[in-house]
Amino acid sequence: MKIELICTGSELLTGTINTNAGFIGSKLYNIGHELYFVTDVSDKKEDLKNVLSNAISRSDVIIVTGGLGPTFDDITVETVSECLKRPVYSDEKVLENIKKYFLKKGKTFPEINKKQANILKSAKILENRFGTAPGQMLNFDFKDENIKIRKTLFLLPGPPREMISIFNENVEPFLKSYSIGIKKSVSINVFGVAESEVEELIRPVIEAARFGYNDTVKFGILANDSVIKVKFSVSGQDEIFVDETINKLKLGFTNILKDNIFGFGDDTLASVVGKLLIGRKKTISLAESCTGGKISSTITDIADSSLYLKNSIVVYSNESKIKLLGVKESSINSFGAVSKQTAKEMVESILKLSSTDYALSVTGIAGPGGATRDKPVGLVYIGFADKKKTEVFRFLFSGVREQIRNCAVNASLDLIRRRLM
Ligand code: ATP
Ligand code: MG
Repeated sequence: MKIELICTGSELLTGTINTNAGFIGSKLYNIGHELYFVTDVSDKKEDLKNVLSNAISRSDVIIVTGGLGPTFDDITVETVSECLKRPVYSDEKVLENIKKYFLKKGKTFPEINKKQANILKSAKILENRFGTAPGQMLNFDFKDENIKIRKTLFLLPGPPREMISIFNENVEPFLKSYSIGIKKSVSINVFGVAESEVEELIRPVIEAARFGYNDTVKFGILANDSVIKVKFSVSGQDEIFVDETINKLKLGFTNILKDNIFGFGDDTLASVVGKLLIGRKKTISLAESCTGGKISSTITDIADSSLYLKNSIVVYSNESKIKLLGVKESSINSFGAVSKQTAKEMVESILKLSSTDYALSVTGIAGPGGATRDKPVGLVYIGFADKKKTEVFRFLFSGVREQIRNCAVNASLDLIRRRLM
């Protein structure tokens, strides 16, 4: 079954992010369907007509979002009506509901909203719990060289909250009934191995899994600031087969990638570190230079991080490293602010000042300037200390400033994770 999505709205073509497409795409993926086409189209009738007629000729289910509002640029219903040569009528019950909606809000009913009661003949009305315009579902016959093909069209409002509720209550159950079976997907989240290396390492597991099941097992690798997500999905009619294949793959990947796997699905390095610190009832403090507070910001994105992050200091200048953290001036003069010695003194000082179980320090050259002959852009030292021991690690990250800083954040979080495991 070919499913296609059309998102209307000139704003989508000038920078507004199409979150409706993301939502619908992932929903369909999880029930074993895929979108064949997604089109963003302006609020011009000719453009929408064009896109609609293409979609109607090539897809079995067409979902349109947006343009069900009352204003002049809301043209979805009239355009579909012209395209399919199907009349519209004003539905009394829908009109009544729209009037009630305004009454409940203590407002007078604006005449222009009458338009939202226009329904395509024979369409099913899909109740909108969060707005005035109902969705519509229309089954129609499409003639292709004298053969009649049954097609389905969904019209959904543009505002995401309204679209999501109508989608969940109407579109998803409809498509589920046509689903080819079960599809389950897993994301394995990895840190500490390069993307190309991950691909090389897991290839044998993928090939073994694909053997004989080419269409049912799908893989993808996504890398972002050194965090790698190995994504795979398994589909089939039989849930036991799907689960067994998923478990086999998970086991295969775990045997190979070992403790480089930090989590699954939505787990992030920060959320995993948070769970570990809470589980072990430990606290941490930070001293950041080149990351400028990004590590603490990432850690505090997680709820309840106050249970383990006690404090964090940004010591961006040499003076602040010396004055606030007591890093020796002689150390900075002899070894530099970006050095093993400075990272060591930073982390030992913040540990002592904060009385936490662990401490971490970061100092590095994020670029684009600041490099010297023996200290290139991307050079980062990360110190980690507890009451017994201090360790300092040297990293050389590549990329632009933003990537280097993000990699330093991720490497810091991963270091904490590994020390806690
Ligand atoms: P309204 O009654 O609000 O006009 P509508 O069904 O006519 O609803 P649109 O006018 O197309 O919908 O869009 C209304 C608002 O909904 C847009 O300004 C935008 O904020 C949001 N919106 C529409 N389409 C999308 C989309 N694909 N992704 C994210 N937001 C969207
Ligand atoms: Mg509108």
